[in-house]
Amino acid sequence: MGKITGFLEIDRHDRPYAPVAERVTNYNEFVVPLNEKDTRDQAARCMNCGIPYCHGTGAVAPGTTGCPVNNQIPDFNDLVYQGNWQEASRNLHSTNNFPEFTGRICPAPCEASCTLNIDDNPVTIKTIECAIVDRAWENGWLKPEPAAVKSGKKVAVVGAGPAGLACAQQLARAGHEVHVYEKAAKAGGLLRYGIPDFKMEKHLIDRRVAQMEGEGVTFHYNAPVGGSAPGAVDAKQILKDYDAVALTGGSEAPRDLPIPGRELSGIHFAMDFLTQQNRRVSGESLGDKQEILATGKHVVVIGGGDTGSDCIGTSFRQGAKSVTQIEIMPAPPERENKALTWPNWPQKMRTSSSQAEGAARDFAVLTQAFEGTGGKVGKLHCVRVDSKFQPLPGTEFELKADLVLLAMGFVHPVHDGLLKSLGVDLDPRGNVNATTSDFQTSVPKVFASGDMRRGQSLVVWAIREGRLCARAIDQALMGLTTLPR
Ligand SMILES: Cc1cc2nc3c(=O)[nH]c(=O)nc-3n(C[C@H](O)[C@H](O)[C@H](O)COP(=O)(O)OP(=O)(O)OC[C@H]3O[C@@H](n4cnc5c(N)ncnc54)[C@H](O)[C@@H]3O)c2cc1C
Ligand code: SF4
Repeated sequence: MGKITGFLEIDRHDRPYAPVAERVTNYNEFVVPLNEKDTRDQAARCMNCGIPYCHGTGAVAPGTTGCPVNNQIPDFNDLVYQGNWQEASRNLHSTNNFPEFTGRICPAPCEASCTLNIDDNPVTIKTIECAIVDRAWENGWLKPEPAAVKSGKKVAVVGAGPAGLACAQQLARAGHEVHVYEKAAKAGGLLRYGIPDFKMEKHLIDRRVAQMEGEGVTFHYNAPVGGSAPGAVDAKQILKDYDAVALTGGSEAPRDLPIPGRELSGIHFAMDFLTQQNRRVSGESLGDKQEILATGKHVVVIGGGDTGSDCIGTSFRQGAKSVTQIEIMPAPPERENKALTWPNWPQKMRTSSSQAEGAARDFAVLTQAFEGTGGKVGKLHCVRVDSKFQPLPGTEFELKADLVLLAMGFVHPVHDGLLKSLGVDLDPRGNVNATTSDFQTSVPKVFASGDMRRGQSLVVWAIREGRLCARAIDQALMGLTTLPR
């Protein structure tokens, strides 16, 4: 374990952020890493609990606690405390293909489950994870790990988000010939085109893609599978050409707000706005798309989740005059009742780094109509709602807006194209139907994982499902698998 009395002697101390005035001037990451001594001190706080809830329960089911990929947290905490960083990196990579992604953008259910969170001072697990993997890259410890023996089997992975990347890397390491088909120009899925650079810079993805290419994975970009878009790849042909197909296309159908005035210009889905900015930062062309910019505008973001926060941070960096975020859910409690919630993930008031950059926030608010002049949005008509989301008469109010960003989540994967061509069954929520025991869809040889199977979720769950899906495919192709979970 860490230092036996560490948790008594050392206070929790996490990575600071660059000041707001400085960080909103650019799109760079702004979380400042701890130095080596501070990181080792933080690892020393770990108590190596008899039941380490941080480590997760291992099931792929909603409501589970701790780390979805089952990182061996007490073990790597001890290794960091001892200064054995290389072994800590080996340990961390035994459960997580991409800890530099989760070490930056995971909400860290492990920390919510940490025993020291009972009095609000969990071990800074995410910071320690990020320090391990960043150090491993800096020291050149992470190299391609090509399989020693090839299986002679070919697998297609459709979609290069975190689920597809994890699935492809595991399959290549098991000796299969892996081809990843991605409709976008670059790999990463929402990591590349949704999550802004200020939360995660994109060279981190390029580095992993290079590692995977070194392991024999072939990437096909601008290659939508199914449908009739330019460059489309025939889904049925893929099925013929490969021994197995993994569907990891994400959950891309956004939830709309079909109310009066929705047709006005200046009202956009969050992803259209965020993708454009990520493309600008990387120098990728926007094509014939009309620019969506918050510069000099009063921005209203509808939806209170991660996507909404990313819209806020991006709007401030573009020079918005004001940013207001509204949410239909009531304001959660400032502090959870630990006796009822721990070690589960608690609903409580959280302020993201983007919200802390100056956004106004309002809860229990329903938007009833948009209004504008000359075809352009100018304001929202809102009303407060009760606990059953019913409007409270007399609470109507207006919000000024030149740009409205709809960040209310995603309903399910896009059905047209890939899924219809293959004819896979859907579950009642419209996601691809497959269980977490074999990830097999209703079509033989076709498997599914990540947001496309479980609905919109988290990067860490996508990695988890990608790994398990690779295991299921390896098992189906070879009759047995030695791939780790
Ligand atoms: C704005 C935003 C911010 C988020 N922030 C966080 C966060 O901070 N932390 C966190 O943990 N999670 C966050 N999430 C959620 C997280 O990004 C997703 O849960 C995760 O990326 C899902 O991974 P995936 O691989 O299943 O799908 P995706 O990341 O959606 O990747 C799917 C890929 O498949 C490709 N594709 C789809 N159809 C086809 C086809 N027919 N042919 C070829 N390619 C295809 C897509 O282009 C895409 O590249 C955020 C989501 C959004 C939208
Ligand atoms: S729950 Fe917290 S203190 Fe206990 S083993 Fe995990 S990280 Fe260490």
